[in-house]
Order: sequence, then structure tokens, then C-alpha cells
Amino acid sequence: MRIECQCGSRAVISRSKKEDDASVSLFCSCIDPECGHTFVSSLSFKHSLFVPASATPSASLGASVVGKRIVCSCGERACIQKTNRLSANVADLYCECSGCGHRFVMVRAFSHTLSPSAHTTEALALALIRSVTPSVRKTLHEQLALF
Ligand SMILES: [Zn+2]
Ligand SMILES: [Zn+2]
Repeated sequence: MRIECQCGSRAVISRSKKEDDASVSLFCSCIDPECGHTFVSSLSFKHSLFVPASATPSASLGASVVGKRIVCSCGERACIQKTNRLSANVADLYCECSGCGHRFVMVRAFSHTLSPSAHTTEALALALIRSVTPSVRKTLHEQLALF
């Protein structure tokens, strides 16, 4: 599955961790070395769109994540048909099971940052420098000149 970092670059999933029956944490890292953001996204089952007639009782139908794959409750692998971005941090994934035909929605949401992006740190440092008094800025300048 495709995951994007907040900087717009692609992110790779290093591993996944099952939180409960319906949700999984995905540990992601941005592929852009200039960014280096590592974060956790959560993926959870939202609802079914189409329940195959063979599935009874339908209430028990769901999906989970095994490794980096979405797996239907029937045990077969499901494919992501469409990704619908709801906001910068939340996306609905429309999935279809290759085995039973179960169609469902998984929701992926940004959970938290593990190590901040270099872009964020840079913006923070610049904001910090802009907010200090001229004398502090002068000291800082002298300190930086040593490098
Ligand atoms: Zn990034
Ligand atoms: Zn299935």
C-alpha cells in the first residue's frame, strides 16, 4: 500500500503492529533523506460496502493487516482499489477481497511522529532565531561562525 509523508514524498512501511482486532499501527519513514520524518499511521476497518452472499453471518466480516498487506476476514488478500484523501492526515482506502469478493473501507490516519522531519526542525530553528533578541542573535552568529 502507498503511504505519503506530510512533505509529499513517499514513505515506506518498516513494520506493522497489531493494536487490537480492528486496528494496526504502521511504522513509516519518509524516503526523502532531506526530510527523514518517521511516524506512525494507524489503519483500521471502517465498514463493509458489499458483503458476499456466501458470507454468513455477515456481521463477523472484517479485515485486518498482516505484515504490510490488508487481509479480509476470509483469509484472502485484499487489494486497494481506490484511495480517498479526506484530509492531509486521513484517507479512506477502498478495498476488495480477491477471494470472497467482500468490498470494504479501511481508514488510515496519521497517529504520531517518532522522529521529526528535518523540514520541521529547520522551520523551528528559523522561527526560534527570528524570535530572539538582537544580542542573542549576535552571540548565536558568533557561535555558528566557529563551525
Ligand atoms: Zn517527508
Ligand atoms: Zn474475503
